[in-house]
Amino acid sequence: MKSNGNINFFEENVFLTSKDILSVHIGLKDFFRKQVLNENDFGKITIQSNGDVYANVHYPVLGNIYTHRIYWLIQREISEGQSWLRLRNSEPCKQCICQWLCPSPSDYEIEIGRPNLCNVKSSK
Ligand code: SF4
Repeated sequence: MKSNGNINFFEENVFLTSKDILSVHIGLKDFFRKQVLNENDFGKITIQSNGDVYANVHYPVLGNIYTHRIYWLIQREISEGQSWLRLRNSEPCKQCICQWLCPSPSDYEIEIGRPNLCNVKSSK
């Protein structure tokens, strides 16, 4: 379910401006890391009490810890998953000069239903 009730609050207080983005020091490692993995999600899993395993609870279940090996679950996320390797490679970010300067996509984007949380480029 998308939460659009607080979009005005987000636009005023959370959305990044180009000044915000350019004021953060970013090293080369950070710059290249953002091009291959999601800094928020990579390496994390959530295991629910029934054994269901998620790389991110916003996406479909990867498997179950009682029936699948951890190695298989990780392989599945790497090859088919939507979380660990979720990058800023869709519109409007892929056309933006800040593409690899911005933080990796977060759960806020998923909740709000937008690919970007900024005032730099509109996704509408
Ligand atoms: S459009 Fe995407 S890459 Fe560009 S500033 Fe906004 S969030 Fe960052």
